[in-house]
Amino acid sequence: MQLNKNYQNLSDSYLFSTIAKKVTEYKERFPEKEIIRLGIGDVTLPLPAPVVEALKKAADETGTAAGFHGYGPEQGYGFLKEAIQGYYAARNTHLELNEIFVSDGAKSDVANILDLFSTENTVLIPDPVYPVYLDTNVMHGRKIVYLQANAQNNFCPMPPKDVVADIIYLCSPNNPTGSTYTRGQLAEWVAYANQNKAVILYDAAYEAFVTDDCPRSIFEIEGAKTCAIEFCSLSKTAGFTGTRCGYTIVPLALTAEGKSLNKMWLRRQTTKFNGVPYIVQRGAEAVFSQAGLKACIDNIAYYRSNAAVIAAALDEAGVWYSGGKNSPYIWLQCPAGMKSWDFFDYLLEEAGVVGTPGSGFGACGEGYFRLTGFGDAENTKKAAAKLKAAIQKLK
Ligand code: PLP
Repeated sequence: MQLNKNYQNLSDSYLFSTIAKKVTEYKERFPEKEIIRLGIGDVTLPLPAPVVEALKKAADETGTAAGFHGYGPEQGYGFLKEAIQGYYAARNTHLELNEIFVSDGAKSDVANILDLFSTENTVLIPDPVYPVYLDTNVMHGRKIVYLQANAQNNFCPMPPKDVVADIIYLCSPNNPTGSTYTRGQLAEWVAYANQNKAVILYDAAYEAFVTDDCPRSIFEIEGAKTCAIEFCSLSKTAGFTGTRCGYTIVPLALTAEGKSLNKMWLRRQTTKFNGVPYIVQRGAEAVFSQAGLKACIDNIAYYRSNAAVIAAALDEAGVWYSGGKNSPYIWLQCPAGMKSWDFFDYLLEEAGVVGTPGSGFGACGEGYFRLTGFGDAENTKKAAAKLKAAIQKLK
């Protein structure tokens, strides 16, 4: 028996364990001091009431002979796919029902989609990045080319002139940087991908946070159906991080080497996946009802207003940042030229505020820091004031 040796090339992630260790040590040293976490990457508000009602109703239904559900369609029930189709149609994006694949979340699909591609492909991955894109390609041993995101390109890197990539990862609004591509920028990416016969793996997990004219789906861009796959999730849209449901759009027009990627993904899913629970899909369907969407929008507004409170504190302290408008994430330049972990230590000691060092998301993240609006509103206000005071003390 031989092992997949690529696993030896994965770098251990100490990011969140190191944060936890440092916070525990701080608590032991200063048990009386308050700690506020602005580093949370998980939602904190409860599930919207219409979703809970739908979950309960579906649970009751499955306890009856007439309403029992066994294995469902691997690619999702028609009622949920129709709801998703309607969600896109409301933004003038037409999807065929068989272009929609319901899943247990974006993380699994972003990872599993790689089954469709040769390990010989060259992959373009932004730095800093949501680590799943990187690690899943390392596991397969693909060649990775990093796309540098920095303050000069506003953390929205554009197609490279000197690299021909096969697989491109784009995430907008972005985790960790909160930056969002404009229509014009995405059109350039679509043109690059079509020209190079590459595929864009577009992660739209935070699309519901977009408030301005930035696209919420790559399929709002002409030409995207021949070069892109979109991953979306109800985790941040509707608080499903623990309930688990997402969906992936694989256009029928997307082909490579004369083969349909939609057909390949269907084959992959029907072979390796047995679908999302019926009860969860009924809860997901309720997300797209009028009452469900309203409740989700209210929750997102709560997180977004937390992000605005943090952004205002940074504006007042004269600190550069991206995000915070179309995103729950704020990505700030560490003040006084500090490195990410030095600023982490300083902020914890000085203000009792916990964030996430940018260097944990890639080399280009060094010197940056991620804060999030996923916390409690009162605590966020308190933490933002402390953050501002701590930064001003450095000047
Ligand atoms: N994509 C991005 C960019 C994320 O930040 C996350 C979660 O934090 C995910 C995907 C995972 O989504 P899901 O919970 O649907 O697996």
